[in-house]
Amino acid sequence: MQGAGTRDGAKVLFAAPVQALDCPSGGSPQIVGDAQGALVAGGNAIRGTRVGAGPMGEAERGEAAPRRRVLFWCAQGHETHVAFASDAEVPDLWDCPRCGLPAGQDQSAPPPAPRTEPYKTHLAYVRERRSDADGDALLEEALAKLRARRGA
Ligand SMILES: [Zn+2]
Repeated sequence: MQGAGTRDGAKVLFAAPVQALDCPSGGSPQIVGDAQGALVAGGNAIRGTRVGAGPMGEAERGEAAPRRRVLFWCAQGHETHVAFASDAEVPDLWDCPRCGLPAGQDQSAPPPAPRTEPYKTHLAYVRERRSDADGDALLEEALAKLRARRGA
């Protein structure tokens, strides 16, 4: 009694997909096994689904490694999103990609800018030492020298 019931169940498993697929090449149970490998107990059929790029295979290999997004803020208020692998150690500081200042994970208390700012240009240093009025005076002085030399 029980044995017969199991055999009937197996027959239904093979028969139903054949009708659903309406396969032009005869609809043999072997072909159905390739397309619906998980339902069929045959080892070859399951290997077939792994190799063929069916929708099933894509779902299986589409899983990305687990990650977490961490936010960093620099002293100038730039917000930086960095994705880390979930098992990676997240550093306390991250260089801001926009201004080069160190950025921390606490938005209300970003790390202070270091004394030697790495991305400052020569002109920026000059402007720090000289005001615009100083610049005008220097320019005037240089022009005066130039005029004196030309006049001589
Ligand atoms: Zn920044």
